[in-house]
Amino acid sequence: MRKENIPPLLTHEKLPKLLNISSQKLEESYWKGIIKNYQKHDLEAIQFKKDLGPVESGTMVIGGETIHIIRGFPKIRRALLLQPALNKHFSKEVAVEEKMNGYNVRIAQIDQQIIALTRGGYICPYTTRKATEILDLDDFFQNNPEMVICGEMVGTLNPYVSHYYPEVGKLGFRIFDLREKQSNTPLTVMDKRKLLKEYGLEPVHLMGIFPVDEAPEKIMGIVRDLGVNNREGVVMKDPMMQLEPLKYTSSQAQALELEYALSYPFDLAQAFLFSRIIREGFQAYEMAESTDELSERAFRMGESILYPMLETIKRVEKGEVAAEDLVIEVGNENEAEEFIRHLRDLKVMAKLVEIKDGKAVIRRIHQSTNDRVKNYLHGGLY
Ligand code: ATP
Ligand code: MG
Repeated sequence: MRKENIPPLLTHEKLPKLLNISSQKLEESYWKGIIKNYQKHDLEAIQFKKDLGPVESGTMVIGGETIHIIRGFPKIRRALLLQPALNKHFSKEVAVEEKMNGYNVRIAQIDQQIIALTRGGYICPYTTRKATEILDLDDFFQNNPEMVICGEMVGTLNPYVSHYYPEVGKLGFRIFDLREKQSNTPLTVMDKRKLLKEYGLEPVHLMGIFPVDEAPEKIMGIVRDLGVNNREGVVMKDPMMQLEPLKYTSSQAQALELEYALSYPFDLAQAFLFSRIIREGFQAYEMAESTDELSERAFRMGESILYPMLETIKRVEKGEVAAEDLVIEVGNENEAEEFIRHLRDLKVMAKLVEIKDGKAVIRRIHQSTNDRVKNYLHGGLY
């Protein structure tokens, strides 16, 4: 019988109520692959691969003494034009937080154990180890066991999104939300900051709370300055956190992403290119730049598309592999291997290059770029 294969946790009598999804729907979603059994780390857990009713993709349900539900971090939609979008979307005030460029992490306590989940609802061994090293979380979870800490892991020793911040350096964690397990209800912007302060935990930078009608102009200035410093942009939030937040990013952030995508044109560029170009078009329109500023933007875009691709073609021509090297800090070879296994679970092709001075270099290979560039270099037709 098929039924025997269903993970017992999925048929737990309390689950439909906790998730607000019928048991029939849960079962159906399992057969459709929307819900998956998660069998790592000796946990009894299930993972949501897609949104399902009110439940976000990336949600993880973990069995144990009690059932823990760590909801997925909600998707943040983007404003292309600040003025009309803010006017339409917010009512009185807008809290502007810096958007940090790293990777999304949710930290929670499960039966006395602290775990760190990445966006899709995977327990990442490196992130779990580093989060507990960087942050002193025991008191916080002692007093707030039902809270999920949502933040960005940033810095250069970062296997997913490596970006240099002078105030962070190698690796740091900045918190942008405190949410309740199961319901995913966030604290208000000020309550969050107050609670974090009590426990010495670092929030993202709050750049101001502005009346809606002044906000677009203020934010344009803020994002311009952030861009000049190679910083990503902002997330705009209802101070009460009753409305969905919106994001908006600098031209330089767009350029950095284009650069990355075009370094591996046949693996990443198609998914990246169109949306980044659209963002630039609308930003250029709204920022009403001088001729000089506009041509600077045009050059930035063009250079970030052309040069990285050219670089990659030359590398492959020389016999090198189209690959990027990730560097992480490890205590021993075992930790490096464990992380590589984790990457392989995520379908990322990676291998260990070397371990030196406590750092592991892991090579992530972009196979399609490699194969296709080689093919064209040998006369293959497009
Ligand atoms: P998604 O919106 O699905 O995460 P994405 O991977 O394209 O899509 P981003 O474009 O980076 O994500 O924007 C959303 C992400 O920004 C959040 O998931 C979060 O990790 C990150 N982030 C950084 N700073 C903040 C902040 N101050 N408030 C909220 N999110 C932030
Ligand atoms: Mg991001």
